[in-house]
Amino acid sequence: MVWLMAAFLPAWGAHSVERIDTVLRATRQIEVPSESRLPLYILPISGQLDGVADGPTVRDYLEKLRQRGIAYSVNWRWKGQGSSPDPGTGSILKIARLQHELGMQVVANASSCLYSFHDGSEPTLHVDADGRTFGDDSFGRTLGCPFGVDHRIPGIRNRVQSFVSAYRESEVPLDFVFVDWEVDGPIEWNGAWESSRRCIRCREAIPEMDSFISFQQAIREKRSALQKQCLSDPVLAVFPEAMVGNYGVNPHDGYRYWYDYFELVPENPAIPVVREQKAVYRPWADEFDACGYTVSMPVIYTWYPVFEWYDYDDPDSRWFYNLLRIGSNAGAHTSPGIPSVPYVHWHTTAPPEHDPDASLVTQFSRERYAELLRHLLVRGHDSFFLWCLGRELETEISLLHKVYAESHQHAGILNSGQPFSLTVPVIGSGAMVVSGVHDEADSTVLIIVSDFDQDRGNSFPMEVELKGLPGTPSVIVETPGRFHRISVGEPVR
Ligand SMILES: [Zn+2]
Repeated sequence: MVWLMAAFLPAWGAHSVERIDTVLRATRQIEVPSESRLPLYILPISGQLDGVADGPTVRDYLEKLRQRGIAYSVNWRWKGQGSSPDPGTGSILKIARLQHELGMQVVANASSCLYSFHDGSEPTLHVDADGRTFGDDSFGRTLGCPFGVDHRIPGIRNRVQSFVSAYRESEVPLDFVFVDWEVDGPIEWNGAWESSRRCIRCREAIPEMDSFISFQQAIREKRSALQKQCLSDPVLAVFPEAMVGNYGVNPHDGYRYWYDYFELVPENPAIPVVREQKAVYRPWADEFDACGYTVSMPVIYTWYPVFEWYDYDDPDSRWFYNLLRIGSNAGAHTSPGIPSVPYVHWHTTAPPEHDPDASLVTQFSRERYAELLRHLLVRGHDSFFLWCLGRELETEISLLHKVYAESHQHAGILNSGQPFSLTVPVIGSGAMVVSGVHDEADSTVLIIVSDFDQDRGNSFPMEVELKGLPGTPSVIVETPGRFHRISVGEPVR
Protein backbone atom coordinates (compact mmCIF):
# COMPACT_ATOMS: atom_id res chain seq x y z
CA MET A 1 0.00 0.00 0.00
CA VAL A 2 2.82 2.33 -0.75
CA TRP A 3 0.80 5.11 -2.36
CA LEU A 4 -1.61 5.33 0.53
CA MET A 5 1.33 5.04 2.86
CA ALA A 6 2.96 8.05 1.26
CA ALA A 7 -0.16 10.04 2.06
CA PHE A 8 0.41 9.88 5.76
CA LEU A 9 4.16 10.17 5.98
CA PRO A 10 5.01 13.57 7.41
CA ALA A 11 6.48 16.05 4.96
CA TRP A 12 10.26 15.86 5.02
CA GLY A 13 11.55 18.18 7.68
CA ALA A 14 8.26 18.29 9.57
CA HIS A 15 8.76 15.97 12.49
CA SER A 16 5.78 14.87 14.39
CA VAL A 17 5.63 12.28 17.08
CA GLU A 18 1.86 12.46 17.16
CA ARG A 19 1.42 8.91 15.93
CA ILE A 20 3.84 7.53 18.48
CA ASP A 21 1.85 9.33 21.17
CA THR A 22 -1.29 7.66 19.80
CA VAL A 23 0.37 4.25 19.96
CA LEU A 24 1.60 4.79 23.52
CA ARG A 25 -1.84 5.95 24.60
CA ALA A 26 -3.58 2.94 23.07
CA THR A 27 -1.23 0.26 24.46
CA ARG A 28 0.12 -0.91 27.79
CA GLN A 29 3.44 -2.23 28.98
CA ILE A 30 3.80 -5.97 28.61
CA GLU A 31 3.73 -7.38 32.12
CA VAL A 32 6.06 -10.32 31.67
CA PRO A 33 7.93 -9.65 28.44
CA SER A 34 9.79 -12.46 26.74
CA GLU A 35 12.90 -11.47 24.86
CA SER A 36 12.46 -14.53 22.66
CA ARG A 37 9.46 -13.00 20.86
CA LEU A 38 9.86 -10.69 17.91
CA PRO A 39 8.53 -7.18 18.51
CA LEU A 40 5.39 -5.75 16.93
CA TYR A 41 6.01 -3.53 13.87
CA ILE A 42 3.92 -0.45 13.02
CA LEU A 43 4.41 1.12 9.61
CA PRO A 44 2.56 4.41 10.35
CA ILE A 45 5.16 5.37 12.98
CA SER A 46 8.12 4.56 10.72
CA GLY A 47 10.49 7.53 10.53
CA GLN A 48 8.60 9.65 13.09
CA LEU A 49 11.62 10.08 15.35
CA ASP A 50 14.19 10.39 12.57
CA GLY A 51 14.72 14.14 12.70
CA VAL A 52 14.05 14.73 16.39
CA ALA A 53 17.20 16.41 17.62
CA ASP A 54 16.67 16.06 21.35
CA GLY A 55 18.46 12.85 22.40
CA PRO A 56 16.70 12.31 25.77
CA THR A 57 13.30 12.68 24.08
CA VAL A 58 14.17 10.06 21.47
CA ARG A 59 15.50 7.73 24.13
CA ASP A 60 12.37 8.17 26.20
CA TYR A 61 10.10 7.33 23.26
CA LEU A 62 12.17 4.31 22.31
CA GLU A 63 12.13 3.05 25.88
CA LYS A 64 8.35 3.39 26.10
CA LEU A 65 7.93 1.48 22.84
CA ARG A 66 10.33 -1.19 24.07
CA GLN A 67 8.32 -1.70 27.26
CA ARG A 68 5.31 -2.41 25.04
CA GLY A 69 7.19 -4.83 22.78
CA ILE A 70 6.92 -2.41 19.86
CA ALA A 71 9.73 -1.86 17.37
CA TYR A 72 10.71 1.43 15.78
CA SER A 73 11.97 1.73 12.21
CA VAL A 74 13.87 4.63 10.66
CA ASN A 75 13.19 5.57 7.04
CA TRP A 76 16.14 5.42 4.68
CA ARG A 77 15.77 8.38 2.34
CA TRP A 78 18.42 8.55 -0.31
CA LYS A 79 20.05 11.75 -1.44
CA GLY A 80 18.12 13.51 -4.15
CA GLN A 81 14.77 12.76 -2.60
CA GLY A 82 14.14 15.87 -0.59
CA SER A 83 16.97 17.21 1.56
CA SER A 84 18.13 13.86 2.86
CA PRO A 85 20.95 13.99 5.37
CA ASP A 86 24.13 12.19 4.54
CA PRO A 87 23.44 8.65 5.68
CA GLY A 88 26.81 8.58 7.41
CA THR A 89 25.95 11.36 9.81
CA GLY A 90 22.17 11.26 9.92
CA SER A 91 20.22 10.93 13.09
CA ILE A 92 19.21 7.42 12.05
CA LEU A 93 22.56 6.14 13.32
CA LYS A 94 22.01 7.79 16.68
CA ILE A 95 18.66 6.04 16.86
CA ALA A 96 20.31 2.73 15.92
CA ARG A 97 22.84 3.17 18.72
CA LEU A 98 20.12 3.96 21.25
CA GLN A 99 18.07 0.96 20.13
CA HIS A 100 21.09 -1.28 20.52
CA GLU A 101 21.77 0.08 24.02
CA LEU A 102 18.15 -0.46 25.00
CA GLY A 103 18.18 -4.03 23.70
CA MET A 104 15.77 -3.26 20.85
CA GLN A 105 15.96 -4.47 17.28
CA VAL A 106 17.56 -1.98 14.88
CA VAL A 107 15.02 -1.69 12.06
CA ALA A 108 15.03 0.26 8.80
CA ASN A 109 12.38 0.94 6.16
CA ALA A 110 14.22 0.94 2.81
CA SER A 111 11.13 1.39 0.60
CA SER A 112 12.13 4.74 -0.83
CA CYS A 113 15.51 3.36 -1.95
CA LEU A 114 13.86 0.89 -4.33
CA TYR A 115 11.54 3.29 -6.14
CA SER A 116 11.62 3.35 -9.04
CA PHE A 117 13.12 0.90 -11.49
CA HIS A 118 10.50 2.08 -13.96
CA ASP A 119 11.20 5.79 -13.87
CA GLY A 120 9.38 6.48 -17.14
CA SER A 121 12.61 7.01 -19.07
CA GLU A 122 12.86 5.78 -22.67
CA PRO A 123 15.20 2.80 -22.09
CA THR A 124 12.84 1.33 -19.45
CA LEU A 125 9.87 1.08 -21.86
CA HIS A 126 8.76 -1.81 -24.10
CA VAL A 127 9.70 -1.77 -27.81
CA ASP A 128 7.24 -2.78 -30.55
CA ALA A 129 8.00 -4.43 -33.91
CA ASP A 130 8.45 -1.00 -35.53
CA GLY A 131 10.99 0.05 -32.95
CA ARG A 132 8.60 2.41 -31.16
CA THR A 133 8.70 2.44 -27.36
CA PHE A 134 5.57 2.15 -25.23
CA GLY A 135 4.68 1.97 -21.55
CA ASP A 136 2.05 -0.07 -19.72
CA ASP A 137 -0.55 2.14 -18.02
CA SER A 138 -2.74 -0.66 -16.65
CA PHE A 139 -1.38 -0.37 -13.09
CA GLY A 140 -2.35 3.20 -12.27
CA ARG A 141 1.13 4.40 -13.12
CA THR A 142 3.35 3.76 -16.12
CA LEU A 143 5.41 0.62 -15.96
CA GLY A 144 7.57 -0.60 -18.81
CA CYS A 145 9.68 -3.48 -20.04
CA PRO A 146 10.79 -6.05 -17.44
CA PHE A 147 13.94 -6.47 -19.50
CA GLY A 148 14.66 -2.73 -19.79
CA VAL A 149 15.62 -2.01 -16.19
CA ASP A 150 19.00 -3.71 -15.73
CA HIS A 151 20.83 -0.40 -16.08
CA ARG A 152 18.89 0.85 -13.02
CA ILE A 153 20.38 -1.86 -10.76
CA PRO A 154 23.76 -0.30 -9.85
CA GLY A 155 22.26 3.04 -8.81
CA ILE A 156 19.49 1.52 -6.71
CA ARG A 157 21.84 -1.02 -5.17
CA ASN A 158 24.19 1.83 -4.27
CA ARG A 159 21.48 3.61 -2.31
CA VAL A 160 20.99 0.54 -0.11
CA GLN A 161 24.70 -0.11 0.10
CA SER A 162 25.47 3.44 1.24
CA PHE A 163 23.16 3.05 4.23
CA VAL A 164 24.43 -0.43 5.07
CA SER A 165 28.03 0.84 4.96
CA ALA A 166 27.14 3.71 7.28
CA TYR A 167 25.88 1.25 9.90
CA ARG A 168 29.00 -0.87 9.53
CA GLU A 169 31.35 2.10 9.76
CA SER A 170 29.57 3.36 12.85
CA GLU A 171 29.74 -0.11 14.34
CA VAL A 172 26.01 -0.32 14.97
CA PRO A 173 24.06 -3.46 14.14
CA LEU A 174 21.23 -3.76 11.66
CA ASP A 175 18.62 -6.37 12.53
CA PHE A 176 15.75 -5.91 10.08
CA VAL A 177 15.43 -4.12 6.75
CA PHE A 178 11.99 -4.19 5.15
CA VAL A 179 10.42 -2.64 2.10
CA ASP A 180 6.91 -2.07 0.87
CA TRP A 181 7.86 -2.32 -2.80
CA GLU A 182 4.86 -3.00 -5.00
CA VAL A 183 3.83 -1.06 -8.10
CA ASP A 184 7.16 -1.08 -9.87
CA GLY A 185 9.42 -3.48 -11.73
CA PRO A 186 8.24 -6.61 -13.57
CA ILE A 187 4.64 -7.65 -12.75
CA GLU A 188 2.64 -10.25 -14.73
CA TRP A 189 -0.90 -8.98 -13.99
CA ASN A 190 -3.33 -6.47 -15.52
CA GLY A 191 -2.19 -5.59 -19.07
CA ALA A 192 1.36 -6.88 -18.64
CA TRP A 193 1.03 -10.11 -20.65
CA GLU A 194 -0.50 -8.22 -23.59
CA SER A 195 2.22 -5.57 -23.44
CA SER A 196 4.99 -8.17 -23.36
CA ARG A 197 3.48 -10.01 -26.37
CA ARG A 198 3.80 -6.76 -28.34
CA CYS A 199 7.39 -6.14 -27.24
CA ILE A 200 10.28 -7.56 -29.28
CA ARG A 201 12.64 -7.52 -26.28
CA CYS A 202 10.17 -9.45 -24.11
CA ARG A 203 9.48 -12.01 -26.87
CA GLU A 204 13.17 -12.64 -27.23
CA ALA A 205 13.62 -13.10 -23.48
CA ILE A 206 10.55 -15.36 -23.07
CA PRO A 207 10.39 -17.93 -25.89
CA GLU A 208 7.28 -19.63 -24.43
CA MET A 209 5.29 -16.41 -24.32
CA ASP A 210 1.99 -18.19 -25.08
CA SER A 211 2.03 -20.06 -21.79
CA PHE A 212 0.97 -17.82 -18.91
CA ILE A 213 2.85 -19.97 -16.41
CA SER A 214 6.08 -19.63 -18.43
CA PHE A 215 5.49 -15.89 -18.71
CA GLN A 216 4.80 -15.61 -14.99
CA GLN A 217 7.88 -17.65 -14.16
CA ALA A 218 10.11 -15.41 -16.29
CA ILE A 219 8.60 -12.21 -14.88
CA ARG A 220 8.91 -13.33 -11.25
CA GLU A 221 12.50 -14.52 -11.82
CA LYS A 222 13.36 -11.05 -13.06
CA ARG A 223 11.45 -9.34 -10.25
CA SER A 224 13.16 -11.56 -7.67
CA ALA A 225 16.61 -10.92 -9.13
CA LEU A 226 16.10 -7.15 -8.80
CA GLN A 227 15.17 -7.52 -5.12
CA LYS A 228 18.07 -9.86 -4.45
CA GLN A 229 20.69 -7.72 -6.13
CA CYS A 230 19.44 -4.39 -4.81
CA LEU A 231 18.23 -5.29 -1.32
CA SER A 232 18.92 -8.67 0.25
CA ASP A 233 22.44 -9.13 -1.15
CA PRO A 234 23.84 -5.76 -0.03
CA VAL A 235 22.26 -6.05 3.44
CA LEU A 236 23.20 -9.70 4.06
CA ALA A 237 26.75 -9.24 2.75
CA VAL A 238 27.46 -7.04 5.79
CA PHE A 239 24.82 -8.25 8.26
CA PRO A 240 24.33 -11.94 7.43
CA GLU A 241 21.96 -12.51 10.37
CA ALA A 242 19.61 -9.66 9.47
CA MET A 243 15.94 -10.12 8.62
CA VAL A 244 15.22 -8.79 5.11
CA GLY A 245 11.80 -8.91 3.46
CA ASN A 246 9.18 -7.25 1.29
CA TYR A 247 5.42 -6.78 1.55
CA GLY A 248 3.63 -9.79 0.06
CA VAL A 249 6.68 -11.98 -0.54
CA ASN A 250 6.30 -15.27 1.31
CA PRO A 251 6.53 -19.04 0.81
CA HIS A 252 3.17 -20.50 -0.38
CA ASP A 253 1.29 -23.36 -2.06
CA GLY A 254 1.44 -22.00 -5.62
CA TYR A 255 -1.70 -19.82 -5.37
CA ARG A 256 -2.59 -16.37 -4.15
CA TYR A 257 -5.92 -15.90 -2.40
CA TRP A 258 -6.05 -12.08 -2.42
CA TYR A 259 -5.64 -9.09 -4.72
CA ASP A 260 -3.75 -5.90 -4.12
CA TYR A 261 -5.58 -2.60 -4.66
CA PHE A 262 -3.99 -2.08 -8.10
CA GLU A 263 -4.53 -5.64 -9.40
CA LEU A 264 -7.40 -6.69 -11.67
CA VAL A 265 -9.08 -10.10 -11.66
CA PRO A 266 -7.74 -11.91 -14.77
CA GLU A 267 -10.36 -12.26 -17.52
CA ASN A 268 -8.10 -14.21 -19.86
CA PRO A 269 -9.17 -17.89 -20.01
CA ALA A 270 -5.56 -18.86 -20.73
CA ILE A 271 -4.64 -17.96 -17.13
CA PRO A 272 -5.15 -21.13 -15.03
CA VAL A 273 -7.15 -19.77 -12.08
CA VAL A 274 -9.04 -21.73 -9.44
CA ARG A 275 -12.59 -20.61 -8.62
CA GLU A 276 -14.51 -20.98 -5.38
CA GLN A 277 -17.93 -19.29 -5.33
CA LYS A 278 -17.08 -15.79 -6.67
CA ALA A 279 -13.44 -15.97 -5.62
CA VAL A 280 -10.80 -16.30 -8.33
CA TYR A 281 -7.51 -17.60 -6.95
CA ARG A 282 -4.43 -16.99 -9.08
CA PRO A 283 -1.35 -19.11 -9.74
CA TRP A 284 1.68 -17.58 -8.04
CA ALA A 285 5.34 -18.30 -8.76
CA ASP A 286 7.93 -19.20 -6.14
CA GLU A 287 9.81 -16.03 -5.39
CA PHE A 288 10.74 -16.00 -1.71
CA ASP A 289 14.02 -17.92 -1.99
CA ALA A 290 14.97 -16.26 -5.27
CA CYS A 291 14.67 -12.85 -3.59
CA GLY A 292 17.14 -14.02 -0.94
CA TYR A 293 14.78 -12.90 1.82
CA THR A 294 15.12 -14.04 5.40
CA VAL A 295 11.70 -13.00 6.73
CA SER A 296 8.33 -13.97 5.29
CA MET A 297 5.85 -11.09 4.99
CA PRO A 298 2.45 -12.32 3.79
CA VAL A 299 -0.42 -9.83 3.52
CA ILE A 300 -3.54 -10.55 5.59
CA TYR A 301 -5.89 -7.63 4.90
CA THR A 302 -9.67 -7.24 4.85
CA TRP A 303 -9.73 -6.29 1.14
CA TYR A 304 -13.10 -4.79 0.26
CA PRO A 305 -14.02 -7.18 -2.63
CA VAL A 306 -13.44 -10.30 -0.48
CA PHE A 307 -16.74 -9.77 1.32
CA GLU A 308 -18.67 -10.43 -1.91
CA TRP A 309 -16.64 -13.51 -2.84
CA TYR A 310 -18.46 -15.85 -0.47
CA ASP A 311 -22.18 -16.18 0.21
CA TYR A 312 -22.07 -17.22 3.87
CA ASP A 313 -24.81 -15.63 5.99
CA ASP A 314 -22.53 -14.79 8.88
CA PRO A 315 -20.57 -11.74 7.62
CA ASP A 316 -17.58 -12.51 9.85
CA SER A 317 -17.19 -15.99 8.40
CA ARG A 318 -16.51 -14.50 4.94
CA TRP A 319 -13.54 -12.49 6.20
CA PHE A 320 -12.36 -15.18 8.58
CA TYR A 321 -12.35 -17.93 5.94
CA ASN A 322 -10.32 -15.94 3.42
CA LEU A 323 -7.83 -14.52 5.92
CA LEU A 324 -7.27 -17.83 7.72
CA ARG A 325 -6.65 -19.44 4.35
CA ILE A 326 -4.00 -16.86 3.41
CA GLY A 327 -2.36 -17.11 6.81
CA SER A 328 -2.42 -20.91 6.92
CA ASN A 329 -0.99 -21.15 3.42
CA ALA A 330 1.97 -18.91 4.24
CA GLY A 331 2.53 -20.38 7.70
CA ALA A 332 2.46 -24.00 6.53
CA HIS A 333 5.02 -23.39 3.78
CA THR A 334 7.50 -21.31 5.79
CA SER A 335 10.34 -23.34 7.28
CA PRO A 336 10.80 -23.09 11.05
CA GLY A 337 14.10 -21.18 10.71
CA ILE A 338 12.43 -18.33 8.80
CA PRO A 339 10.49 -15.81 10.87
CA SER A 340 7.06 -14.80 9.59
CA VAL A 341 5.72 -11.31 10.16
CA PRO A 342 2.45 -10.81 8.27
CA TYR A 343 1.21 -7.37 7.31
CA VAL A 344 -2.23 -7.05 8.92
CA HIS A 345 -5.10 -4.56 8.64
CA TRP A 346 -8.54 -4.70 10.29
CA HIS A 347 -10.63 -1.83 8.86
CA THR A 348 -12.19 -2.80 5.51
CA THR A 349 -9.26 -2.23 3.18
CA ALA A 350 -9.21 0.10 0.17
CA PRO A 351 -12.98 0.56 -0.30
CA PRO A 352 -13.91 2.48 -3.45
CA GLU A 353 -14.36 6.19 -2.83
CA HIS A 354 -17.92 6.24 -4.12
CA ASP A 355 -19.71 2.93 -3.99
CA PRO A 356 -23.49 2.66 -3.74
CA ASP A 357 -23.08 -0.89 -2.41
CA ALA A 358 -20.68 0.10 0.36
CA SER A 359 -23.34 -0.38 3.03
CA LEU A 360 -23.60 -4.03 1.96
CA VAL A 361 -20.05 -4.73 3.05
CA THR A 362 -20.02 -5.46 6.77
CA GLN A 363 -16.89 -4.58 8.71
CA PHE A 364 -15.09 -7.61 10.20
CA SER A 365 -15.95 -7.68 13.92
CA ARG A 366 -13.31 -6.85 16.51
CA GLU A 367 -13.91 -10.12 18.37
CA ARG A 368 -13.43 -12.36 15.34
CA TYR A 369 -10.39 -10.35 14.22
CA ALA A 370 -8.74 -10.93 17.60
CA GLU A 371 -9.53 -14.66 17.25
CA LEU A 372 -8.02 -14.71 13.79
CA LEU A 373 -4.82 -13.12 15.09
CA ARG A 374 -4.56 -15.84 17.76
CA HIS A 375 -4.99 -18.55 15.13
CA LEU A 376 -2.21 -16.93 13.09
CA LEU A 377 0.15 -17.00 16.08
CA VAL A 378 -0.21 -20.79 16.34
CA ARG A 379 -0.16 -21.31 12.57
CA GLY A 380 3.44 -20.36 11.97
CA HIS A 381 3.54 -16.57 12.40
CA ASP A 382 5.83 -14.88 14.89
CA SER A 383 4.53 -11.34 15.18
CA PHE A 384 2.60 -8.78 13.11
CA PHE A 385 3.35 -5.81 10.91
CA LEU A 386 0.61 -3.18 11.05
CA TRP A 387 -0.26 -1.03 8.07
CA CYS A 388 -3.16 1.41 8.36
CA LEU A 389 -4.26 4.96 7.66
CA GLY A 390 -3.37 7.57 10.28
CA ARG A 391 -7.00 7.95 11.37
CA GLU A 392 -7.27 4.19 11.93
CA LEU A 393 -4.14 3.87 14.01
CA GLU A 394 -5.58 4.12 17.52
CA THR A 395 -8.18 1.38 16.93
CA GLU A 396 -5.86 -0.83 14.89
CA ILE A 397 -3.00 -0.82 17.39
CA SER A 398 -5.32 -1.23 20.34
CA LEU A 399 -6.87 -4.40 18.83
CA LEU A 400 -3.58 -5.80 17.63
CA HIS A 401 -1.47 -5.11 20.70
CA LYS A 402 -3.86 -6.89 23.07
CA VAL A 403 -3.40 -10.17 21.19
CA TYR A 404 0.29 -9.58 20.58
CA ALA A 405 0.82 -9.09 24.34
CA GLU A 406 -0.84 -12.48 25.00
CA SER A 407 1.84 -14.14 22.87
CA HIS A 408 4.44 -13.15 25.49
CA GLN A 409 2.56 -15.14 28.16
CA HIS A 410 2.86 -18.22 25.93
CA ALA A 411 6.31 -17.50 24.51
CA GLY A 412 7.83 -20.86 25.45
CA ILE A 413 5.33 -23.10 23.71
CA LEU A 414 4.91 -20.70 20.77
CA ASN A 415 8.65 -20.73 20.18
CA SER A 416 9.31 -24.44 20.53
CA GLY A 417 5.95 -26.18 19.99
CA GLN A 418 4.88 -27.90 16.79
CA PRO A 419 1.83 -26.49 14.98
CA PHE A 420 -0.89 -29.05 14.26
CA SER A 421 -4.27 -28.85 12.58
CA LEU A 422 -3.35 -26.44 9.79
CA THR A 423 -6.40 -27.24 7.69
CA VAL A 424 -8.94 -24.56 6.82
CA PRO A 425 -12.48 -25.92 7.07
CA VAL A 426 -15.25 -24.28 5.07
CA ILE A 427 -16.22 -21.88 7.82
CA GLY A 428 -19.47 -20.74 6.22
CA SER A 429 -21.08 -24.12 6.81
CA GLY A 430 -20.80 -23.64 10.56
CA ALA A 431 -17.44 -25.23 11.06
CA MET A 432 -15.35 -25.30 14.16
CA VAL A 433 -11.80 -24.06 13.57
CA VAL A 434 -9.17 -25.55 15.82
CA SER A 435 -5.54 -24.40 15.78
CA GLY A 436 -2.76 -25.23 18.14
CA VAL A 437 0.85 -25.93 18.95
CA HIS A 438 2.00 -29.04 20.74
CA ASP A 439 4.86 -29.11 23.24
CA GLU A 440 5.96 -32.72 23.22
CA ALA A 441 8.31 -32.31 26.17
CA ASP A 442 5.58 -31.54 28.70
CA SER A 443 2.65 -32.98 26.71
CA THR A 444 0.67 -29.78 26.60
CA VAL A 445 -0.99 -27.86 23.81
CA LEU A 446 -1.80 -24.21 23.34
CA ILE A 447 -5.03 -24.16 21.40
CA ILE A 448 -7.67 -21.78 20.16
CA VAL A 449 -11.12 -22.84 18.99
CA SER A 450 -13.46 -20.67 16.92
CA ASP A 451 -16.99 -21.91 16.51
CA PHE A 452 -19.10 -20.71 13.56
CA ASP A 453 -22.08 -22.94 14.25
CA GLN A 454 -24.99 -20.78 15.46
CA ASP A 455 -26.89 -23.82 16.74
CA ARG A 456 -24.10 -24.99 19.00
CA GLY A 457 -24.29 -21.49 20.40
CA ASN A 458 -23.30 -21.26 24.02
CA SER A 459 -22.58 -24.91 24.61
CA PHE A 460 -19.08 -24.27 25.95
CA PRO A 461 -17.31 -25.77 27.89
CA MET A 462 -17.15 -28.37 25.16
CA GLU A 463 -15.14 -31.47 24.39
CA VAL A 464 -13.00 -30.89 21.31
CA GLU A 465 -10.99 -33.48 19.35
CA LEU A 466 -7.46 -32.44 18.46
CA LYS A 467 -7.05 -33.83 14.96
CA GLY A 468 -3.49 -33.88 13.74
CA LEU A 469 -2.11 -34.99 17.10
CA PRO A 470 -1.17 -38.67 17.67
CA GLY A 471 -4.15 -40.56 19.10
CA THR A 472 -6.49 -37.60 18.40
CA PRO A 473 -6.89 -36.70 22.09
CA SER A 474 -10.00 -34.87 23.29
CA VAL A 475 -9.79 -31.88 25.60
CA ILE A 476 -12.34 -29.72 27.34
CA VAL A 477 -12.32 -26.17 25.99
CA GLU A 478 -13.81 -23.64 28.40
CA THR A 479 -14.33 -20.65 26.12
CA PRO A 480 -14.15 -20.26 22.34
CA GLY A 481 -11.90 -17.63 20.81
CA ARG A 482 -9.28 -17.62 23.60
CA PHE A 483 -5.93 -19.28 24.12
CA HIS A 484 -6.01 -22.38 26.33
CA ARG A 485 -2.99 -24.25 27.61
CA ILE A 486 -4.09 -27.84 28.23
CA SER A 487 -2.41 -31.12 29.10
CA VAL A 488 -2.87 -33.92 26.58
CA GLY A 489 -1.39 -36.86 28.45
CA GLU A 490 1.73 -38.08 30.15
CA PRO A 491 4.90 -36.01 29.56
CA VAL A 492 7.49 -37.60 27.29
CA ARG A 493 10.41 -38.88 29.39
ZN1 LIG B 1 9.27 -5.60 -23.10
